[in-house]
Amino acid sequence: MSDRLLSTRGVRSDVDLAPMTTYKLGGTADWFVEVEDEEHLTDVFTSTPDSADVLMLGRGSNLLISDAGYRGLVIRLSGEFLQTSVEPDGVVRAGGAAPLPRVARAAAEAGRCGLEFYAGIPGTVGGAVVMNAGGHGSDTAAHLLSARIFDRITGDRSERSVGAFDFAYRHSNLAPGEIVLSARFSAEPCERAAAEERIREITRWRKEHQPGGTFNAGSVFKNPPGDAAGRLIDEAGLKGYRSGGVSVSEMHANFIVADEHATAQDVWNLVWAVRRRVGESTGIWLVPEIQFAGPFERTGDELTGLEAAG
Ligand SMILES: Cc1cc2nc3c(=O)[nH]c(=O)nc-3n(C[C@H](O)[C@H](O)[C@H](O)COP(=O)(O)OP(=O)(O)OC[C@H]3O[C@@H](n4cnc5c(N)ncnc54)[C@H](O)[C@@H]3O)c2cc1C
Repeated sequence: MSDRLLSTRGVRSDVDLAPMTTYKLGGTADWFVEVEDEEHLTDVFTSTPDSADVLMLGRGSNLLISDAGYRGLVIRLSGEFLQTSVEPDGVVRAGGAAPLPRVARAAAEAGRCGLEFYAGIPGTVGGAVVMNAGGHGSDTAAHLLSARIFDRITGDRSERSVGAFDFAYRHSNLAPGEIVLSARFSAEPCERAAAEERIREITRWRKEHQPGGTFNAGSVFKNPPGDAAGRLIDEAGLKGYRSGGVSVSEMHANFIVADEHATAQDVWNLVWAVRRRVGESTGIWLVPEIQFAGPFERTGDELTGLEAAG
């Protein structure tokens, strides 16, 4: 596989993934490519066997890469996929790699409101559609009109409307082989100044209530119905709880923050230890929101509460 793939434009081997994630942790990818446009993506998949493991990487802001790295191909959209524009009818179009804060600002500059919540989420449009990213009372499902999807197994491209994603809280039905190429969002007409003020408020709120945008991947666990994961972790007395080079943030208990000695395995260990402790003290078995890529050593904590969690 490697010769054919390595002769494809832009494909490199043994690429360090840590700098491409907000945790800044993890090992190398066997192969890595930044794809510039749809034709390039087709070329890459033509040289990639269906059996190869493929990981789409956005900003790596919801992803923990293992210390052993990823034995497969990692693809990051770039080039034309970074573009954002606001159409005359107010529809906001953005490529799968467009940074969410840029989408928020582009909409605000054009006097369009509703997407300001994206200003506080350091991911891409692709990652946001997959995860139904949201915050500040809104989410992707509330504004998405449609997204262009490429299915790497069948090679089909389709414009899928919002209703087809089966969106729920931090959930879509996108399959691992499906790639978000671009998205169209609705936004309401409003005063530019009002939208920009809302973005400033959201940015201020984030600075006051959450650790910064690096050495963590945002909320570790999904909020259980009717409750907040951070509140449960805090009540279990776990703020500041440390394992290796990582700890539960003192600022926001649903964040696990890494220090300069941390490994990805430390994060894994703490995620499952926190889940076990919260489960044992409250009976609520939290579900991780962050995604894991590559192999991790099991500690045994991963197996606790599985029956209760269904
Ligand atoms: C400080 C901080 C605050 C955060 N706050 C929030 C918040 O308020 N709300 C929230 O929802 N999230 C939040 N997050 C988490 C994260 O930013 C979002 O989940 C975001 O949508 C992830 O986007 P990404 O591009 O970084 O995806 P990645 O982390 O790179 O990937 C996440 C998943 O999406 C897949 N993926 C990425 N791009 C594509 C694509 N083009 N096509 C198909 N699959 C793709 C990946 O394979 C992976 O499975 C926060 C993170 C941080 C670090």
